[in-house]
Amino acid sequence: LTMLAAGVLGGVFGLLLASYLNRPVDPVAELDRALAAHEFKPYVQPTFRLKTGDIIGGEILARWEKPDGRLIPPMSFIPLAESSGRIEKLTWQILKSALRELQPEMRQDKLFKLSVNITPRHLLGDGFVDDLRKVVASSSVSTRQVVLEVTEREELADLNKATDVVKELGEFGFRIALDDVGIGHSGLSTIQRLGARILKIDKFFVDAITRDQSAVVVVQMLVALARELDMSVVAEGIEQQEQVDALIACGVEEGQGYLVSPPLSLDRFKQFLDVHNASAAAEGRISKPEL
Ligand code: C2E
Ligand code: MG
Ligand code: MG
Ligand code: MG
Repeated sequence: LTMLAAGVLGGVFGLLLASYLNRPVDPVAELDRALAAHEFKPYVQPTFRLKTGDIIGGEILARWEKPDGRLIPPMSFIPLAESSGRIEKLTWQILKSALRELQPEMRQDKLFKLSVNITPRHLLGDGFVDDLRKVVASSSVSTRQVVLEVTEREELADLNKATDVVKELGEFGFRIALDDVGIGHSGLSTIQRLGARILKIDKFFVDAITRDQSAVVVVQMLVALARELDMSVVAEGIEQQEQVDALIACGVEEGQGYLVSPPLSLDRFKQFLDVHNASAAAEGRISKPEL
């Protein structure tokens, strides 16, 4: 009996000590809790036509809205979500939510394209194309308005498999954007063979373009390559008008960056579109939306 009492006391003491030391919870369990509570949100950054400033779409960028109000950036949870096998669930959750909220705007503007970042492992995993088709079919958005961004930062493990998946996606109307081009590991063979329709030039070159002639040369080369391969080009991380001017001079037509807007919550992104459309209509640049 004394042994039992000692055991119970020891257990209670252990619990008290653990909470006193405020031991952090298991980070994967915390991810699961946050997924169940739908704390991962799709923030959206507008993409725009460089010459006119017209909004032509948006990129979903994940944010973790903690119950205490903190907003956690993707680099603090995406790598763990990837290594723990939670990235698939997270991706479908934020894509479904963005499609649900933005479908009225996307039905009205058939040229509006919504991009979502997809981890190479997810893209190459079993059933990706079927799962994606189901998610998009459960909204009223056309597959032609959905773009999958695949980063060039990591090597696409199996380029043959990746090329097949991209081809299959294309048959259903989906487009692929190759993200972070120029700073990755995969190189020109990926650009040449993958079958991506969009090439995203990394912020690294946008930062350098106004002060370094060699950055101009790289951007011009990527534009020429994209033209030959029938790809469109988007420049990332544009913060200054001088960068817009330099990019236009290199032949880049589309971009995104804080100059126009940071990533916004869905509510604020919808407001942003309303204000933008109202001012474009006032300037006579677009026709009145159909009723
Ligand atoms: P990315 O896909 O290349 O996204 C561009 C990043 O640049 C975003 O950072 C965006 O907020 C930031 N950015 C855009 N314009 C500017 C600018 O003018 N100035 C500066 N300084 N930054 C700008 P964010 O949101 O922190 O995302 C970082 C990366 O995390 C993304 O890079 C993407 O690779 C990854 N990521 C984000 N959301 C997801 C997701 O849902 N799934 C996956 N697999 N990866 C994601
Ligand atoms: Mg991206
Ligand atoms: Mg990028
Ligand atoms: Mg991007």
